[in-house]
Amino acid sequence: MSTDALAALSAGAPLEHFKVPLRELRDDDVAIDVRFCGVCHSDIHKARDEWGGAIFPMVPGHEIVGLVAAVGPAVTRFQPGQRVGVGCFVNCCNDCTQCARHMEPYCPRVVATYNAKDHDGAIAYGGYARAIVCRERFVFSMPTTLDMAASAPLLCAGITMWSPMTRLGLHKEPRRVGVVGLGGLGHMGVKLAKSLGCTVTVISRTPGKRDEALQRLGADRFLLSTDASAMATAAGSLDVVFDTVSAKKELDPLLDLLAVEGVFCTVGLPMQGVRYDFVPKQVIRRRLTLTGSSVGGTQETQEMLDYCGKHGITCDVEVIDGDYINTAFDRVVRSDVRYRFVIDVTTL
Ligand code: NAP
Ligand code: ZN
Repeated sequence: MSTDALAALSAGAPLEHFKVPLRELRDDDVAIDVRFCGVCHSDIHKARDEWGGAIFPMVPGHEIVGLVAAVGPAVTRFQPGQRVGVGCFVNCCNDCTQCARHMEPYCPRVVATYNAKDHDGAIAYGGYARAIVCRERFVFSMPTTLDMAASAPLLCAGITMWSPMTRLGLHKEPRRVGVVGLGGLGHMGVKLAKSLGCTVTVISRTPGKRDEALQRLGADRFLLSTDASAMATAAGSLDVVFDTVSAKKELDPLLDLLAVEGVFCTVGLPMQGVRYDFVPKQVIRRRLTLTGSSVGGTQETQEMLDYCGKHGITCDVEVIDGDYINTAFDRVVRSDVRYRFVIDVTTL
């Protein structure tokens, strides 16, 4: 079996129509007719081989929403016709401490949804495709109350912000949160932090995002990162800063925003080789914590989806046809999207 998809055939090559194999249904597999797939900046990093280790041909896509087409005999949670999602991972060792606590991204044998080799040696292909076959463990039930296209990016952008927020306890004790970079991840960070009761500051280099951040997304404050005096005035005013920036930036001005015992959490993952300096004295004097976070585990992903369903939280999306994908990639790199492209894969 095979399916129609969009693939990069070499690093940086425009994506083109391509057929990829689909495996026969195994006992614990769910076959999904994909309807929508979000375009994450990670798709661009990978298709352009900015992180190294790319496997071509590559079908990107890990914000996948569709309907169950068929299930294997051992599948218990899903049935044909059900609305489901697949995020960033499709397999794990099922045996380690991280798998036991449903923290699959940190399993040493975790398999990404695409640009990866599964344990049996098969190449994994992502969601810029009409269909996907995925193990039940990595399939999520999608809230049917939400717009289907606008819920797709919850599967990466949403959970990548939700996981560190809940790990840092913001759902129990709302705090003063900063979100650096108002893109796909950043705008979900604002929506989720606000819904948890946090006070939210957006730190952006794009003045045109000020009104949207404050009025549409509900942020409490907007800081232009290029305005040194505004940044200085805001020193020490935040408890947690989430950095979602996809490129190299100065770290010290961001650390300066943190109060004593503040936490700087990076989720943005610029290209290979990017290194950051920071002034140790700053970190010591205010006893800062530097941390990072990778997407999220399966259990917390389902919790986040259910939470978003209950509270009506979706992503701001621009739905595109498959043929628009190369323009969309360029526009994401220019930060010219509000705030996520989502491919209607029925156009493939
Ligand atoms: P995105 O939509 O492109 O957003 C990134 C934002 O960063 C932009 O909107 C822009 O915000 C800012 N930015 C971009 N280029 C910049 C530059 N040269 N200097 C300063 N700021 C810049 O990307 P995304 O899909 O949200 O992903 C963000 C990053 O997170 C990517 O590196 C992606 O690979 C990574 N990621 C990590 C995980 C994880 O598990 N940790 C999961 C998904 C994605 P402003 O215009 O507001 O400044
Ligand atoms: Zn992603």
